[in-house]
Amino acid sequence: MLELATPLHALRGLGPKRARDLEERGLRTIEDLLFHLPFRYEDRSRFFPIASLVPGLRATVRGRVVTSVLRRTRARGLTIFEALVQDDTGSIRVIFFNQPYLRTALPAGRDVILHGEATVARYGRRGLVLQGPQFEALSDEDQEAIHTGRVVPIYARLPGLSSRAIRRLIHSVLKILPPLIPDPLPPGLSEERAFPARREAIAFAHFPPQDADLSNLNAFRSPYHRRLVFEEFFFLQLGFALSRRQREVLRAEAGLRVDDAIRARLRAALPFPLTAAQRKALKEIADDLMSGRPMNRLLQGDVGCGKTVVALLAALLAVENGHQVAFMAPTEILAEQHHRSFRVMLQGTGYAVGLLTAGVTGSARRQVVLGLRSGAIPFIVGTHALLEEDVRFSSLRLAIIDEQQRFGVAQRARLRAKGARTDVLVMTATPIPRSLALTVYGDLDLSVIDEMPPGRRPARTVVRGEESRPAVYDFLRSQVKEGRQVYVVYPLVEETDRAGLKAAVEMQGMLAHKIFPDLRVGLVHGRLKTEDRDAVMAEFVSGRLPILVATTVIEVGIDVPNATVMVVEQAERFGLSQLHQLRGRVGRGTHESYCILMAGPRAGDDARRRLDIMASTHDGFVIAREDLRMRGPGEFLGTRQAGLPDLRIGDILRDHDILEDARKEAFWAASTLATAPQRRDLVLHLERRWAGRLGLIQVG
Ligand code: ADP
Ligand code: MG
Repeated sequence: MLELATPLHALRGLGPKRARDLEERGLRTIEDLLFHLPFRYEDRSRFFPIASLVPGLRATVRGRVVTSVLRRTRARGLTIFEALVQDDTGSIRVIFFNQPYLRTALPAGRDVILHGEATVARYGRRGLVLQGPQFEALSDEDQEAIHTGRVVPIYARLPGLSSRAIRRLIHSVLKILPPLIPDPLPPGLSEERAFPARREAIAFAHFPPQDADLSNLNAFRSPYHRRLVFEEFFFLQLGFALSRRQREVLRAEAGLRVDDAIRARLRAALPFPLTAAQRKALKEIADDLMSGRPMNRLLQGDVGCGKTVVALLAALLAVENGHQVAFMAPTEILAEQHHRSFRVMLQGTGYAVGLLTAGVTGSARRQVVLGLRSGAIPFIVGTHALLEEDVRFSSLRLAIIDEQQRFGVAQRARLRAKGARTDVLVMTATPIPRSLALTVYGDLDLSVIDEMPPGRRPARTVVRGEESRPAVYDFLRSQVKEGRQVYVVYPLVEETDRAGLKAAVEMQGMLAHKIFPDLRVGLVHGRLKTEDRDAVMAEFVSGRLPILVATTVIEVGIDVPNATVMVVEQAERFGLSQLHQLRGRVGRGTHESYCILMAGPRAGDDARRRLDIMASTHDGFVIAREDLRMRGPGEFLGTRQAGLPDLRIGDILRDHDILEDARKEAFWAASTLATAPQRRDLVLHLERRWAGRLGLIQVG
């Protein structure tokens, strides 16, 4: 008996090779196949009288083959199958190239449904033809049409399977699927929403009933779609809800203490008064830390709002309580910068701040590793290097992850796992729209810094073309003359992108020798040796180096308040969020600052429009929403491993209302079904659906 869990290779008619190919695409079971829903539906249900066809009309006709013939052309191998199909009103010629098997599929006398566009014949006799239409021969025993003569599902291709083949396969699977498929949702939910039964929803989402509303279907708003989308979101959110509960019932450790002495020391470390928004975020974090329940919090705030200092104070709080803190950043440059500024801020406290990046090697690294194990180093700043096996802590209590969107879910999990019971604070400048946050960070608490430190002025942003280059250079020179500093950024798809790297190196050479022979022009990129890069960055930070040519290694986090100009070359190659990050490198001090987006010679209108959005707004939220809309959630978040669950049906933008509904119900179910027997079924279904990925969901 066929079941949803039946593996695809057990299907007759699929073949082992195809089953393997499908498996590679993540389709293992009948259920996986059935959740490959059509992306579009076409109404081929109304038959057009053949006599009323006109050129350019796409239509479905039904008739009988009166003659058919297979011809070979002189061009080698080419065959033409030609049939004359007739209904009560008239007849039309139908032509197929290179499908000789049609001679047996469409013999004279066979009833057939055809769907396609009528065109004026370009071969042989003149008149209207249907060339290569979708067709379906109706055999005597099976008069049920699946490819035409109905609302027809159109599928995205799968390995070795055309839309048509998928249609046939799914149709045959649906025929032998048991008549009843249990509803995995908790009792009542489907009824309240008047959802169709599960079996019906699946079947009709593929082969809708004749009276189904086509535009509803195409908008994924039919009752069948709504049900399946709800189900998918419900179980995702249930995963979040359960993992949150799990955390809440974890044996509460003693919370951190805060007394007046600690408060005074925190205050002493502060170089400036916090903004109200920073104070609020800090309080939320401190409350978590003092509660004793494990923290899982996202600190979000636009570029330059001052997240670092809030994290540092939280870190100091943990250290004052005798614990260790790890602070992980995505690039060496950024880790080094944090290390420098934390050391300065913690100077008065006597606490050691360690640094661990790929550039820290040999005995320096051994020292750090030993210091972490013994507890002599209470506070470590680093990159992925912190995740190495031999990096162990004596008592890691707080893990802080900066620019967390740059890390995969698994990496964040690994850092957390270095402590027995770690509080986690992740930080990002990317304002994530709520629906996305709910799917990606479903079990994180959120703190937002929605205010800039005083005295900031947004960078004036302009889009310039090649013709303005000389003027741009003049402007850079005038800024440097006033004592300011300049970034010139080159787009690199990856830090391993050779051509991009070469362009950046050439740019630096050109600027250094031709344009600004009297000024110093530095260069940083991801391929430089650590010492060389450090030397350049140190010079830039100190103000001695006026112009820095860089790849995207400086995209996130870098903080040099005296730098006032950000020039982005071939700006159209960057995503909006990336441009926003780059622009965030300037405007960090009190001087007026500028962002110049150079549109490359091949930038089209679309690209220009995107850049104009940057020029017209500084609102990170608006920019993120545009970016998300234009690139979709996957690209927007960067990588798959950024934690985007692979939804099969639901779309977080399109279906955000269903998402909210499902989330509410899932959290309710998690709290009310805590001990009920239904809970077991729910969890079983949950595990089957999100197998293996659940463990990862729980860490931001
Ligand atoms: P981000 O949130 O983008 O990580 P940073 O933490 O790098 O921002 O802070 C940006 C700059 O603002 C830094 O130079 C920092 O020292 C400064 N800054 C942060 N908070 C304040 C504040 N309350 N008052 C003045 N300057 C601040
Ligand atoms: Mg930062």
